[in-house]
Amino acid sequence: MKNKAVNEIQDLQYFGEFGGVNPSISDSSTYTFLAAKSMMDTFEGTTEGCYLYSRHSSPSNLYLCEALAAMEGTEKANVAASGMGAITPTLFQLCGAGDHIVCSRTIYGGTYAFLKNFTPRFNISTSFVDITNLDIVESAITKKTKVLYCESVSNPLLEVADIPSLSKLAKKYNLTLVVDNTFSPLSITPKLLGADIVIHSLTKYINGTSDTVAGVMCGSKDFIDSLKNVNDGASMLLGPVMDSLRSASVLKNMRTLHIRMKKHSENALYLAQKFEQDGIRIMYPGLESHPQHTLYKSMYNAQFGFGGMLAFDAGTLEKADELMELMQEEKLGYLAVSLGFYKTLFNAPGSGTSSEIPENEQAAMGLSEGLIRFSIGLDNDIERTYINMKKCLVKVGLL
Ligand code: PLP
Repeated sequence: MKNKAVNEIQDLQYFGEFGGVNPSISDSSTYTFLAAKSMMDTFEGTTEGCYLYSRHSSPSNLYLCEALAAMEGTEKANVAASGMGAITPTLFQLCGAGDHIVCSRTIYGGTYAFLKNFTPRFNISTSFVDITNLDIVESAITKKTKVLYCESVSNPLLEVADIPSLSKLAKKYNLTLVVDNTFSPLSITPKLLGADIVIHSLTKYINGTSDTVAGVMCGSKDFIDSLKNVNDGASMLLGPVMDSLRSASVLKNMRTLHIRMKKHSENALYLAQKFEQDGIRIMYPGLESHPQHTLYKSMYNAQFGFGGMLAFDAGTLEKADELMELMQEEKLGYLAVSLGFYKTLFNAPGSGTSSEIPENEQAAMGLSEGLIRFSIGLDNDIERTYINMKKCLVKVGLL
């Protein structure tokens, strides 16, 4: 699939206040008006190009929004102070008391906890389903369902969602399809496959330097404007606004995303293939052995590959811990949560990033305690990395 959006970002050019090649950073929370009437109009949302107050919008945030909307091929975007700061207002904007959400059962632990434990307080209920089984997804839809929610590549099991088929279901039942694309920026463009709203934790690949927490929701002009409505917009009223200094730095980092994603994917595919040949059961969508490999290939922008995330089961949590500590000692990366960094990051999600999911549900979805999730880094010499990782696997008795 050709990604027109990728070329659109390439054409974006910004000029700073004094002709700088980077846009000037708007370091203000409030804005002056020469005429009182224009302040009123701006408040009502009827004046384009005027700013009122930075919780609503700021020039720096709008530059970043423009780049992200171009990347995802949507009309508009709204940046937030974290990925959760994008997910939670999106769902609150779409659902009210009595509404129902059908959600993939393999999702980021924070999103799971929000839907399982928090939204029921507002009488919003969620059915968690195996998103790879479309019959099960369809049978979970009720008259009250408003949203179909999934991750394009799921955290941490790397299940791949069939976005075109889910979009057909969403259209059939008049639902909004929301896709968290954090694991596969540029590689998958959910909007072009039929998603209505695309979310990212910018904390991960898009920023790429593990120095900030940030998020974005991308969608139609109507939806993004509704989030920012001063009377009933969830982003405006819940207030998870991104700071201008941060959005300026995320925008600068984003310019190398296309190069980084190619390298993350190339390195992850190399390691996945090598370790699979060695007899380890690797989960990686780029391997033919992955259950949704063909599906991924039917949806992806081939030049960006299958992403930088892979996983395998070390058997027990003790074994996983032993291996991760050794790899950190051998300078192969960090025993840390999160992803998208230049160094490889690894953790055992069952007891970490997915610990919000109860043990019995983890078992049902195939998340074992010894599962290690890797975010493969940008190593220049990946062959050397493979040799050194293999030594660690041999030392702990996994090879
Ligand atoms: N979505 C996914 C897939 C994630 O992995 C995460 C965090 O790990 C989030 C959303 C939440 O993002 P943030 O930590 O920026 O709030």
